[in-house]
Amino acid sequence: MSGAIADAMAGIGHCSRCRMFSEHELCSICAASGRDAGQLCIVESPADVMAVEDATGFRGMYFVLMGHLSPLDGVGPEELGLAMLEQRIRDETITELIIATNPTVEGDATAHYLADMAARNKVPASRIAHGVPLGGELEYVDGGTLSHAFYGRRPVD
Ligand SMILES: [Zn+2]
Repeated sequence: MSGAIADAMAGIGHCSRCRMFSEHELCSICAASGRDAGQLCIVESPADVMAVEDATGFRGMYFVLMGHLSPLDGVGPEELGLAMLEQRIRDETITELIIATNPTVEGDATAHYLADMAARNKVPASRIAHGVPLGGELEYVDGGTLSHAFYGRRPVD
């Protein structure tokens, strides 16, 4: 990454709670009142948050991985903030962990990791249905398809 881009990225900042891009310590979603803090939707990118917000009536919270597990590229649990996520799962009362990673090889591997994390912390987890085309990315899927996949989500174990 070039220095200029790195500087620009650093200037944006991230929400301390969900890792979404934010100019403030908490992003507008985390800071909002009236959302269901028990439903935690895990997505790969900030664009996926916008896609889910636009396509569904979801009123829970998010956690943004800023990527997916990709050992060959040196992206492991640490880079994705998964320790922070697990701490959040332990500290908060999560009624449903909604896994909305992309249906790609890396997204699937990440989803399995998240499902294991949910299981060992005894938190119910679900994954959005695969109306999303294989290899597709949530942000490029039309709203109707994403909404269908979101509400067709199934428990994972
Ligand atoms: Zn946030």
